[in-house]
Amino acid sequence: MTTRTPLMAGNWKMNLNHLEAIAHVQKLAFALADKDYEAVEVAVLAPFTDLRSVQTLVDGDKLKIKYGAQDVSAHDSGAYTGEISAPMLAKLKCTYVTVGHSERRQYHNETDELCNAKVKAAFKHGLTPILCVGEELDVREAGNHVTHTLAQVEGALKDVPAEQVESIVVAYEPVWAIGTGKVCGADDAQEVCAAIRGKLAELYSQELADQVRIQYGGSVKSGNVAEIMAKPDIDGALIGGASLDADEFVKIVRFRD
Ligand code: PEP
Repeated sequence: MTTRTPLMAGNWKMNLNHLEAIAHVQKLAFALADKDYEAVEVAVLAPFTDLRSVQTLVDGDKLKIKYGAQDVSAHDSGAYTGEISAPMLAKLKCTYVTVGHSERRQYHNETDELCNAKVKAAFKHGLTPILCVGEELDVREAGNHVTHTLAQVEGALKDVPAEQVESIVVAYEPVWAIGTGKVCGADDAQEVCAAIRGKLAELYSQELADQVRIQYGGSVKSGNVAEIMAKPDIDGALIGGASLDADEFVKIVRFRD
């Protein structure tokens, strides 16, 4: 049986300047240093302007916390004003980058096709994409949440080879549960996460599907994380608002305590 190390990733969104980022990561490192938290991988997904500071801190203090960005350009370089490329993120030793977060899809019109290009750009430069997928409220109410989410997975992975996909992280984030306080029921989250694993098995192989980590995201807090993490196809969480409170984020990371 494959064992998947849970990944708890904090998506800071557009919060914390580089000085606040340093203080925040120091707090996390201190709170997590007194016990073995290797059974859970911890990552912070910071604004671009924070990454160099986070890198210096993580490298200097040999912290086990991983870090990454919240978006990446589909292009490696060139006349794309305002964009940040995968080679730039790789140079900062980022491990992860989120692709297709619903806020990018909603406010920046990101399509599955663009997500596909971003996934490819990330893998090409050794970054691990955290591919965000999930349905809006009307889609769920119409009962089409599984079909909708699986189409996003398939679209984003078009022509991405198995040897890359085996290391991807997929985050199931129902849009109606993001930042709203409305958490998706653990059984409902499990239903979609299991379907995502099934889709990966269909597109690639069962072996690959068993290896891929699938996170749940949407109003995760210390009070609901244990129930979510008890589900067999949920291998971690993508945490937005609650990740900005270091004490709360640490409690989420220590969901087993
Ligand atoms: C997110 O930003 O991916 C997220 C899940 O946000 P929140 O935890 O605030 O719902």
